[in-house]
Amino acid sequence: MSLGVEVRFMEHQVQTEQPVRVLVVAAHPDDPEFACGGTSARWAEEGKEIYYLLCTRGHKGSSDPEMTSERLIQIREEEQRAAARVIGAREVVFLDFIDGELAPTLALREAIVREIRRIRPQIILTHDPTVVYTAGHINHPDHRAVGTATLDSVYPTARDRLNFLHHERDGLLPHKVKEVYLWGSATPNVWIDISCSFDRKVEALRCHVSQVGSAEQLADRMRERAKNIGEPQGIPLAEAFFRIAMER
Ligand SMILES: [Zn+2]
Repeated sequence: MSLGVEVRFMEHQVQTEQPVRVLVVAAHPDDPEFACGGTSARWAEEGKEIYYLLCTRGHKGSSDPEMTSERLIQIREEEQRAAARVIGAREVVFLDFIDGELAPTLALREAIVREIRRIRPQIILTHDPTVVYTAGHINHPDHRAVGTATLDSVYPTARDRLNFLHHERDGLLPHKVKEVYLWGSATPNVWIDISCSFDRKVEALRCHVSQVGSAEQLADRMRERAKNIGEPQGIPLAEAFFRIAMER
């Protein structure tokens, strides 16, 4: 065997073994852990690169009469960074949109497209924007806004060169995402077994002290939820998504 052949083979190996990049796009700190912490932790363990994009810093998530938004965003940013470390995420990016005031504007879409073109993920996880309410709760309008803006970013905006052409001048080229996983969907079509990463999901959730407090029943509550999602599918503990595999 000539050295040339061997080198080409090695190059091919390097190319095919590039880790899969996963971008989690969420409205608020703690959404990524509640919604897909088990999946992200499992995938990180398996060698996928996990990136977090938080559209707000969670300015409004407190009923403490002494709390200010300025203090809260510092606390929540730190909590989110700590949780991401437990999950094994490589990077956490915060956008400067205001908690409670998100709308699927062109400005939000531009910011998400910029990160998609920079990070170049094959997989995106985000909120299902179609769920407005269930029998038990009304979906937060920020969640719907981020879900809509993210889908609009994946297709067609990030893919098509002439959208936000100024990105190209910053060295950010068009990018085609292969799969989108929507959490909170009323009609999931994919269930991820999180039995092996469930403890890490709970540990990461505990980093959000300002939100979950001491929450002694947190692990039990989360276990019950993961069991209810997984058991009909024959999976002990699961997170569920609606998966879109992009054909074009
Ligand atoms: Zn939220």
